[in-house]
Amino acid sequence: MSAATPLAPPAPIRVRNPRTGEFDYEFTPPSAAALGEIAGRLRAAQPAWRDAGIEHRIEVLSRWKAALERHKADIVGALATDTARRLIAFGEFGSTLGAIDRWCREAPQLLREPEGTSGAVPSIRWRNQYVPYPLVGVISPWNFPLVLSFIDAIPALLAGCAVLVKPSEVTPRFVTPLKRAIEEVPELARVLAVEPGAGETGAALIPLVDVVCFTGSVKTGRIVAEACARAFIPAFLELGGKDPVIVTASADVERAAETVLRASVLATGQACQSLERVYVHESIYTDFVARLSEKARAVGITWPDANRGEIGPFIWGRQAEVVQAQIADAVAKGARVLAGGEVEDHGGKWLRPTVLVDVTHEMDVMTEETFGPVMPVMKYRDVDEAVRLANFGVYGLSAAVIAGSLEEGEAIARRLDAGGVSLNDGALTGVMHECEKHSFKLSGMGGSRMGSAGLTRFLRRKALLMQTGAPAAIRQFDEALLN
Ligand code: ADP
Repeated sequence: MSAATPLAPPAPIRVRNPRTGEFDYEFTPPSAAALGEIAGRLRAAQPAWRDAGIEHRIEVLSRWKAALERHKADIVGALATDTARRLIAFGEFGSTLGAIDRWCREAPQLLREPEGTSGAVPSIRWRNQYVPYPLVGVISPWNFPLVLSFIDAIPALLAGCAVLVKPSEVTPRFVTPLKRAIEEVPELARVLAVEPGAGETGAALIPLVDVVCFTGSVKTGRIVAEACARAFIPAFLELGGKDPVIVTASADVERAAETVLRASVLATGQACQSLERVYVHESIYTDFVARLSEKARAVGITWPDANRGEIGPFIWGRQAEVVQAQIADAVAKGARVLAGGEVEDHGGKWLRPTVLVDVTHEMDVMTEETFGPVMPVMKYRDVDEAVRLANFGVYGLSAAVIAGSLEEGEAIARRLDAGGVSLNDGALTGVMHECEKHSFKLSGMGGSRMGSAGLTRFLRRKALLMQTGAPAAIRQFDEALLN
């Protein structure tokens, strides 16, 4: 949807239920004109929000937190339908409330403007003014619809920006109860809007905002980055991963197998930071594979009983086809399936935890993002080989090392081309937020969303340079002074 697109009324988007596979929900995305009006309204309200100060913004977000609590049952219920997960829906809700608390605690300190004196010219004093981007656009994916809509929006709001969020068209149900909670806090409703839509709504949003936070695939991330370049605005991109885990000879095999299983198959593997490649030292390989396979076979799916089992269906049905095709490609090239391996179609599509061995880097399952509960396992001979294998490929989101000691693990972690490495665990970047991290290689671009930069990247720095002495006079630059 470009500026040249005629303003036809947008068609309703039908949404499948991930559990039944049936279309059972629909919504109408905003037209380009309506989105433009929303952006204009947010932009007009932002200066007052910025100037009201951080204590006011904290007070408003605290009231929003209370409103979210009042609507918890409806938000979590809708999110559980969007994602076909109940426990994780509660987790997303709790994590979003936790993010409000954490950023409200940290923001006053992060917004304190530094000042100092010039080393070169001591009569010049300086002060930094922090100038928030007026309007931040957030484009979020379907795998963690609530968390990934607000992981960037909350610090941006506290920084003094207005925010326009476009959640994924695959998981829009949570937005209606969420909007009610926003509307109950009028000061917030003036500077925060949430409008689900498909790719064209995302594309229409980009020219309307001053910075884009995007979480999604590399393919779409590239399109978004190109559109941002044309609009001459920054793009903060959090894209896919193909996270490796290295299990060393000294690791506790039982614990390693349990950890790899959890960090690979949790949320049906539909997390960017899921482990997707397993490299195990040859001395423990046979034992590890046996334990991993046994544990994988013991995991239950949430079918037929939605209230039991650890593995839900694929949220986006077509992802099941992608994963099944990767397994077929691997098997055609010589891999063996030791557990799982077959997508089960019960309307929605489930895949039990899948263990693959005899895999190589010629197989898609070792190079392409899987986004499913699949654990391809390869053995290695020495640490150099493990590091080389783990650093293979185009992604550099995160990684893990499981070793007999943290010291041994850290020595390996320091050699990995990834923005975050979990030691003696996996996928820890999904649960802790204090430590800054970048995305390496094709996994992303732009400032860290973790740690202090998660807020400060929304502030442009203006230098206020104050002459306290006599300004230099032009005659001080007369060439004759050298004579
Ligand atoms: P996934 O959600 O599977 O990671 P995408 O990367 O395609 O898939 O989508 C992430 C988000 O980007 C979604 O909100 C989607 O609607 C949006 N999107 C898709 N195409 C575009 C586009 N051309 N411009 C902006 N946003 C887009």
